[in-house]
Amino acid sequence: MASGYHLMELPTKVLIGEGVISKLGEFVKDSAGQQGVVVASGSNVGSKVRRAVVSSLPVEPVWVEVTAADVQNVDRVMAASTGRGCIIGVGGGKSVDVGKLAAFKLHLPFYSVPTSASHDGISSPFASLKGLDRPYSFMAKPPVGILADIEVIASAPRRLLASGCGDLVSKLTAVKDWELAHRVTGEYFGGYSASLALMSARTVLDGSKRIGTFSTDSVRDLVEALISTGVAAGIAGSSRPCSGSEHLFSHYLDILAPDSGLHGEKCGIGTIMMAKLHGIDWRRVRSALRNVGAPVEAAQIGVEESMVVEALTKASNIRPDRYTILSKRKLTEKSAGLLAKSTGVI
Ligand SMILES: [Zn+2]
Repeated sequence: MASGYHLMELPTKVLIGEGVISKLGEFVKDSAGQQGVVVASGSNVGSKVRRAVVSSLPVEPVWVEVTAADVQNVDRVMAASTGRGCIIGVGGGKSVDVGKLAAFKLHLPFYSVPTSASHDGISSPFASLKGLDRPYSFMAKPPVGILADIEVIASAPRRLLASGCGDLVSKLTAVKDWELAHRVTGEYFGGYSASLALMSARTVLDGSKRIGTFSTDSVRDLVEALISTGVAAGIAGSSRPCSGSEHLFSHYLDILAPDSGLHGEKCGIGTIMMAKLHGIDWRRVRSALRNVGAPVEAAQIGVEESMVVEALTKASNIRPDRYTILSKRKLTEKSAGLLAKSTGVI
């Protein structure tokens, strides 16, 4: 569809810096109006953040605690949101995904207030829910605004920040898969959004030692890179620049071992192997992940060897419309095992 068209939907505003959570009320003022706001938030959001959110808003928000990223929680947030001005997702992945989808369904503005930086959902147009007929993200709308308090995010557990680095390096193979699909199937390829996504991956690949300190400055770079990949998807009009074979691998592990590993951790491990399949420098990916403290072996996230092999051989079936290196190579159990062993994943 080289001569086709697509819609670009992008976040309208981003407020980023230390202590900006106190400016939330001002940030959402245009959408909140007189109707007040709904906050979708997880139980892991600390009382300090909660107090800062409540005290910055002119009217007490309706606070909905999100317990899981599933349809029931989306329904709960939607039920609480009738007649309100906007929905604010405060927290990690779950709250942002649930809030984003509830707002999308109700045609309400959505604001993302990440308290960690574990994946690119903080800015992207996708939401990922459990218990649906397909185990991968789907298009909703990007947040109209993202408020990223670096002080709050830098105090998130290191494991979450390292997971965000895993989601960032995964753009390397996602873009390779996209280029491949363009060559093989003639699918639209957006050079600009691909470059933008690659630039975000390089933030970690080229600067892993610095990023891995998770100082305020490096966390700011990490967050800006994650926001940027969500924007790349908005420009592409699809998740292509952000999600390729490594994400299919991660989604397949979600089915096999739902409680093992974080999204970005699984994507990072997948990227090591997909990089090798693409013939690019997979050792560089592995050492960058190591430098930021992200797992590089399946055992580190409690995933068994047989699951890695099964995911490698079957991941492309969960989304047949998405052509990737896994569609081209069609790994057997034997070749999948060799790939995982030769890259040190198992
Ligand atoms: Zn991802």
